[in-house]
Amino acid sequence: MPEFSFLQQSDTLKRAEDQINILSAILAGGHSRLSFPAPLEDQYIAHRNQRFLDIDRKILIGGLLFYLAFSWTDFYLGGDNGPVIFLVRLLLSLSFLFFIWWVPRSSLNEYMVLFAAGGILIAGLSIIAFICMIPGELKYTYHFGLIPIQVFTMVALRLSYRAVMLVSVLLLSCYIATLLVTESRTGQNEIAHLVHFFIPVFILFWLLLIVMGGYMAFMTESAARSDFLKNRLLALEAERLQYLTGKLHYLSTTDALTGIANRRYFEEQAGSEWRRCQRNQAPVSMVMADIDLFKDFNDSYGHQRGDQCLRQVAQTLAAFCQRPGDVCARYGGEEFVLLLPDTPAQEAAALMEKARQAVEDLAVPHQHSPAGVVTVSMGIAALTATDGSSTDCLLSEADRMLYAAKAKGRNRVVVSAATAAPTVVS
Ligand code: GH3
Ligand code: MG
Ligand code: MG
Repeated sequence: MPEFSFLQQSDTLKRAEDQINILSAILAGGHSRLSFPAPLEDQYIAHRNQRFLDIDRKILIGGLLFYLAFSWTDFYLGGDNGPVIFLVRLLLSLSFLFFIWWVPRSSLNEYMVLFAAGGILIAGLSIIAFICMIPGELKYTYHFGLIPIQVFTMVALRLSYRAVMLVSVLLLSCYIATLLVTESRTGQNEIAHLVHFFIPVFILFWLLLIVMGGYMAFMTESAARSDFLKNRLLALEAERLQYLTGKLHYLSTTDALTGIANRRYFEEQAGSEWRRCQRNQAPVSMVMADIDLFKDFNDSYGHQRGDQCLRQVAQTLAAFCQRPGDVCARYGGEEFVLLLPDTPAQEAAALMEKARQAVEDLAVPHQHSPAGVVTVSMGIAALTATDGSSTDCLLSEADRMLYAAKAKGRNRVVVSAATAAPTVVS
């Protein structure tokens, strides 16, 4: 019988259904664009960080190489400070590389996006610092270096709208503040004049980039969040469906009163086990068991006690069906059927004698029974499955043996003499 714990599983179903309702409401409400309610937000952040680790680490390495590739300009344009600027750039690049390698392997891996945002900000600030360190008008060429940093911010941090906006606005503010301090001290030559004319245009262009980048990050993040919700919903629906399929299978194969297999399950299993034994030329034993004088039991102790007794007997008999392929089912009323594949008659008889004794040992009082307790009678038939034979003839032979057991005084096991013959043709 398939194992199925209703209590444990119905908890899972309730949790899944609660979550489905919450997620559906969030999706329908559309107020989920950039944040979810508490536990879901944590799950999303964990999911986003994993995605970042899986995909965006390569983008970070690409950006780092780009940053490092421009170190040649430090020598070319840096004047006396060239070697220092080069060294700073090199050291920064090596530290970034270390963090890209180390953070995913450390317990800080869930903060990878934060580290990336910090790294990009530091790279941008380093360019601003280089602007301050380069003598003369050559420093203006470094202003252009801030544009790739801005574009890179938009690409590498696109999964987090807030990170894009924070890094962008901080960088632009630092740039403007630096300009206010440094440019007021710059001499008023022709180049400076020209640059001062273009700087507001440059800042406007940068602002435009931030607006576009912010919009792109907003759309990317809300699409990623909506995908996350839909995927969670799908997974939960699959979980729910799996539970319901299990429940349906359980209900259609289990007897509600006793909890053992029902007749339908028995018939399904009997057919397939019979065919398997037919292929292997193996013996199959069939047992019909019936509680003795059960009508009198009900009359004396009531139907509720009768039901309780039925459950006890059912569980006791089922405990003797341990091998794969064995089935113990409630056949109807207070009758049970046991299918024992690969089991010859003598082996089945010995096993069922123990089962009969186990029922007697339950010691359920029964005033009308000769033994004083509830007992069962059993009929056994066995045969080697061959072509032309079927479980039906085995079942009716076992039933015949059950009647014989009743006739002989009940509380006994009777084995069919016909089982000695190798086949019974239906
Ligand atoms: P025998 O030893 O010849 O089998 O006598 P019996 O009284 O057991 O035989 P009979 O078939 O006449 O009675 C079966 C009784 O089983 C009748 C019915 O009251 C009882 N029974 C069948 N199904 C249920 C059930 O689900 N719950 C309860 N409590 N009793 C049941
Ligand atoms: Mg009976
Ligand atoms: Mg009966």
